[in-house]
Amino acid sequence: MGSKSSQLHVFFFPFNAPGHMIPMLDMARLFTTRGVKATIITTPFNVPTVVKTIERTKTRGNGVVKIDIQTIEYPAVAETDLPEGYENTDSRTIHEKMTSFITAPAMLRQPLEQLLQNHDHPHCIVADMFFPWVIDATAKFGIPVLVFNSTSIFSSSAGVSMRQYEPQMKVSSDSEPFVIPNFPDEIMLTRMKLPTFSDNKYVQTLFSNFAKEVGESEVRSYGVVFNSFYQLEPAYANHYTEVCGRKAWYIGPVSLCNKDVEDKGQRGLESSIDKHECLKWLNTKHVNSVVYICFGSNASFNDSQLMEIAMGLEASGQQFIWVVRKDKKENEDEVWLPKGFEKRMEGKGLIIRGWAPQVLILDHEAVGGFMTHCGWNSILEGVTAGLPMVTWPLFGDQFLNEKLVTEVLKFGVPVGVQQSCFEMSGNDLCIKKEAIEKAVRQLMESEDQAKETMRSRAKELGEMARRAVEEGGSSYSHLNALIEELKALHS
Ligand code: UDP
Repeated sequence: MGSKSSQLHVFFFPFNAPGHMIPMLDMARLFTTRGVKATIITTPFNVPTVVKTIERTKTRGNGVVKIDIQTIEYPAVAETDLPEGYENTDSRTIHEKMTSFITAPAMLRQPLEQLLQNHDHPHCIVADMFFPWVIDATAKFGIPVLVFNSTSIFSSSAGVSMRQYEPQMKVSSDSEPFVIPNFPDEIMLTRMKLPTFSDNKYVQTLFSNFAKEVGESEVRSYGVVFNSFYQLEPAYANHYTEVCGRKAWYIGPVSLCNKDVEDKGQRGLESSIDKHECLKWLNTKHVNSVVYICFGSNASFNDSQLMEIAMGLEASGQQFIWVVRKDKKENEDEVWLPKGFEKRMEGKGLIIRGWAPQVLILDHEAVGGFMTHCGWNSILEGVTAGLPMVTWPLFGDQFLNEKLVTEVLKFGVPVGVQQSCFEMSGNDLCIKKEAIEKAVRQLMESEDQAKETMRSRAKELGEMARRAVEEGGSSYSHLNALIEELKALHS
């Protein structure tokens, strides 16, 4: 039975990881600006993050509360073979990651069906791409499912091509290059950079099967929603619909719905630095004089790699904000920092231990470059801020996003990572301080033509991003068209 009200009601079912949850919450807020009622489906673990966003929306003006929340619970641990911490994607080991990303979420199918059984049906469910099973779970209720694809159109199209043509099976080693077949640009890859790569065969098979399932769910869904905008990847947007045969809407950058300091500063998890303190620090700096370094919500560097980053930054002579996922231990030497580093860097470099208010920082005029792990949200937030980048992909779709930034859009320089790595062990080192220093200098010291071109390209993309979400822009129109289509389905 569908909702009787004439107001369009959409369920948003985000995956439990900041890189998926944050953009979907932004998306829900965006839908409400068009008069849609939004309900977020989540598990108790994530309620505080969701509530924070809803509260912010409530205080935003017209007094009409349009975002609701419904919780569903995992089966009791005793009834499953899930290990402790399965709900937390901040986990460190590869096996914990596999559990929290693939195995555990599938156990939400029954609770979701139960919820739909007992609730007025929404007109549509926007489900994260990592929940491919939602299509079958909702089929008997006749509710259309939109898949939220949280990566670039470029990377999704590459996935479709590689599953279809399997060029990676036709090379003789993990490091032998191959070209992505039937693709708008000539892009070379190696197996070591594929989202499904792992030197653990069991993990690799699990990833490949999951990627296939995700791809198939997109085909079987009502359509796919992307946090991207047409002008950023036009050849791939056309390719994805015309060659890959998907129905899709490009409605980003969704982060642009956070307009003021309050919104930007509170987005995502609880920030480890007071936003005003952060702004005060940035306000003392010249335009484009600070490089921001952050590797997203899931990076796990070992101490040796962090030490190389610190030394590379110091040698580059640049001012920086560096986000490190480490707690400060009082009266204890931090083995991942060179002796006296923070004292020497006082006023010049700021380390944020934990969670940074990223969009607030990127949008500040003092920030002139972004060293990023190439998570899609980070790339898009950097694009929106008009920033050139140093690309340092770690795993998943990040190597593909790097290709888009450095080879197609050409507003970034790679630091030189050659192999996907989920977790660093022991003293593994992927990038030396010399390479870090060189890339940061290339990004920030702009005396030559190539660097100026990169900076002006980034600025131009930033302007396009803003225009896309304004009235009459492509993302604005895509969202309106999607909403009209959903309304027509139920009229
Ligand atoms: N983020 C943030 N502060 C941090 C780390 C991450 O605000 O200290 C946000 C970032 O702005 C982005 C999201 O978390 O919206 C991370 O998503 P992304 O796709 O970039 O990377 P992931 O964490 O999924 O690897």
